[in-house]
Amino acid sequence: MPLVEEIDGGVWSIPVPIPGSPLRYVLSYAIATPLGPIVVDPGWPGEAGWASLSAGLELAGWSVTDVQGVLLTHSHTDHQGLALRVREATGCWVGMHELDARVLAGYADGSRVHDCNATWIPQCGVPSGAETTAILMDADAMMAACGVIPDRLIDDGESIRVGGRSITAIWTPGHTPGHLCFALEDEGLLLGGDHLLPRISSHVGGYLIDESDPLGDFLSSLGKIVARVAPADVEILPGHEYRFRGIEERAGIVRDHHIDRLREAFAAVAEVTASTAWDVASRVSWARGWEETKGGLRRLALSETVAHLRWLAVRGLLVQTGRNPTVWSVRSNDLTGIEARIRAEVERSRGTAIR
Ligand SMILES: [Zn+2]
Ligand SMILES: [Zn+2]
Repeated sequence: MPLVEEIDGGVWSIPVPIPGSPLRYVLSYAIATPLGPIVVDPGWPGEAGWASLSAGLELAGWSVTDVQGVLLTHSHTDHQGLALRVREATGCWVGMHELDARVLAGYADGSRVHDCNATWIPQCGVPSGAETTAILMDADAMMAACGVIPDRLIDDGESIRVGGRSITAIWTPGHTPGHLCFALEDEGLLLGGDHLLPRISSHVGGYLIDESDPLGDFLSSLGKIVARVAPADVEILPGHEYRFRGIEERAGIVRDHHIDRLREAFAAVAEVTASTAWDVASRVSWARGWEETKGGLRRLALSETVAHLRWLAVRGLLVQTGRNPTVWSVRSNDLTGIEARIRAEVERSRGTAIR
């Protein structure tokens, strides 16, 4: 794990371990204010995480009880998992975007896991039996990890002021529907959560049983954040890996990655008359190969495939029919010019307002 580190502008980076995850750690940030720190994304729950967060705050000259508030970039357990414990230890507030607060509430009452397992998985055309069992979401684990109810709902553009310090929230849906980045404008820093990481491309998906378009939202959010911070060459403090500059170049690489994946998904659908998301996911390329992409990782891969298929359908490049399962087909299996069409639509997404 990287070391606890003071960044310019009174911000501390505190790595918090994620046991058993290839990501290894989440970067929690403590922002100094005269009243005490604001913690952004306290990290994965459990004793190891709590010990790292507490030790990091102490190295920076605080104790956990000094924390004035917790800001959450999004609802994923590696980011919000310790929020409840920090609040219990300090009585501080916890703030996040309303759409991700709803995600947490859905996990806490079991409805979201039920929707995923009983509706979304069959909708994707996952064969019943062992294939389905292997990717079911664990209701008890999600219930245990998602117990925090925020005290503050944070809106796009809202300025959070604590002890004379001002933090601006920027709504960047895509990785999750209520993902927020937090800008420290005077200091030239952006706490980016999982919206944009320096090396790996963050997951875009979710278990869509509605008609949402997370990849469209993600690409719009990418355009929004680049327009906002690129001119000042702001330093990005991400939720994983390491901090970086050059957001415009990085955003271009991520866009190209999605263009490749969209083209590949389109070609997989065009190969046959009709496909389920499961058929497509098993035919496109994955870092470790489809056979080796197992359990929760396979569920994530499938959900990213659905996001790509949905994006193509929303833009008229694919046809989406039925619900049990949903079937995807091409209007024409002529691949000529498809990459240029996808690229043009991705360019358009950049400047499109988020729905
Ligand atoms: Zn995340
Ligand atoms: Zn994360």
